[in-house]
Amino acid sequence: MALQISEVVASRARWGLLGLWIIVLAELLLNPVAKVMLGPKGPLASLLPDQLHCVMVQGQCVAVHAEGLSASIFWGMVLPILVVVLFLFGHELWRRVCPLSFISILSREFRSVARDWFHRGDAEYSKKVIPPVTLKENSFLRRYHSCLQLAILYVALCCRILFVNSERSFLAEFMLFFILAAIIVGLLYDGKTWCQYLCPVAPVEEFFMGPRALLGNTAHLLARRRGQVTQSMCRKIDEQGKEKSICVACKQDCIDIDAEKAYWSGLMSPRKQFLSYGYAGLVVGYFWYYFLYAGNWHYYASGVWSVESHQAQRIFNPGLFLFGHGLFIPKIVSVPLVLGLFLLGGYGLGVVIERSLGKWQQSKTGNFNPVVLRHHCITLNTFAVFNFYFVFSGRNYIERLPAPIPLYVPAVLSAISAVWLYRTWGRRSIDYYNELSQKKEGAGIS
Ligand code: SF4
Repeated sequence: MALQISEVVASRARWGLLGLWIIVLAELLLNPVAKVMLGPKGPLASLLPDQLHCVMVQGQCVAVHAEGLSASIFWGMVLPILVVVLFLFGHELWRRVCPLSFISILSREFRSVARDWFHRGDAEYSKKVIPPVTLKENSFLRRYHSCLQLAILYVALCCRILFVNSERSFLAEFMLFFILAAIIVGLLYDGKTWCQYLCPVAPVEEFFMGPRALLGNTAHLLARRRGQVTQSMCRKIDEQGKEKSICVACKQDCIDIDAEKAYWSGLMSPRKQFLSYGYAGLVVGYFWYYFLYAGNWHYYASGVWSVESHQAQRIFNPGLFLFGHGLFIPKIVSVPLVLGLFLLGGYGLGVVIERSLGKWQQSKTGNFNPVVLRHHCITLNTFAVFNFYFVFSGRNYIERLPAPIPLYVPAVLSAISAVWLYRTWGRRSIDYYNELSQKKEGAGIS
């Protein structure tokens, strides 16, 4: 059963989420709520990681502060929920309500309104058809955007570990940086250039969805007529109150128009391999770094990293702690080093495994289908990373839920991923194209 929401509802959700984000930013900058709510007897004090028990980092109890509720909730609750939403509903639901995408679209709209206002009274201008401003066909961003987006995500994760995890003012500046970038891109380009080519969440959306999300809409089955508004396609409500496409073709095989088409058409590209295996390596490296830094898993599992005192002042402290000894590689060097090695290692390992499986299948059966092999490797990779992610992420909050919920949450998440795996494993591009041509024949579209 797919979730379909009207543009009116999506618009309200966008404004609501934008308002919430502004409140979160104000809280991060001024901290008015946390001061009251997180005092020793504050009603939300129990949401903070347990401060009574010592959590060891490099053989010493880590010092904590009690003002980081927003940062702690953002990392421990909001992000894991977002990953579940992406996995269940695909990119389309999130892309339609994402406040960062909305900010970029608002600045794009502001540009057109400002341009019209500037040329008001110009009779010649009002007759002109202004062509959309999109990236040039062979521009750097069009060709290498996946690598760039994964690189931005890598830098963002390094910044998280070094500065942002528990320093609320840094987290606010981190968010403001992305808001500013989205505004600038919206002012310069039409379509969803920010989401398609620069946003670091886009590779995460693509990674967790695979060809079809469990509860996502299948665009090709909705293709009843040309110009049908599908999935998270750019749209507006016309004078008759109907949703109308305002696509300016800023992206070929756009994921917002038909995610499954985008999946099959890009499956055999080196870009897809780098994104899938590189992202898997980055996720594994990200969680392992906490162990390599603290010398134990309790540091991550307790969530104390989200309320750690003076995080940014430790960047020149030893960044690795192995076998009871700190290695004097400063944290500011070891974080990018470890995450970078895992990212490249994940990519290299994925490519080697896929190639070896191909050779093995070829020698065994004398014939193998590289598209099916790539699809199977990427599907298994997504399944494994989703389950690995939830071994760690959000655990400090899940364990605070009343019994027996903490026992059921991992079981439910594993069951969801198993259903996704079952549904995705046997899917083939031919199924998609057959369904599409049947649908078009039925609808009389040539
Ligand atoms: S629907 Fe069209 S304008 Fe919107 S992101 Fe996709 S290609 Fe760009």
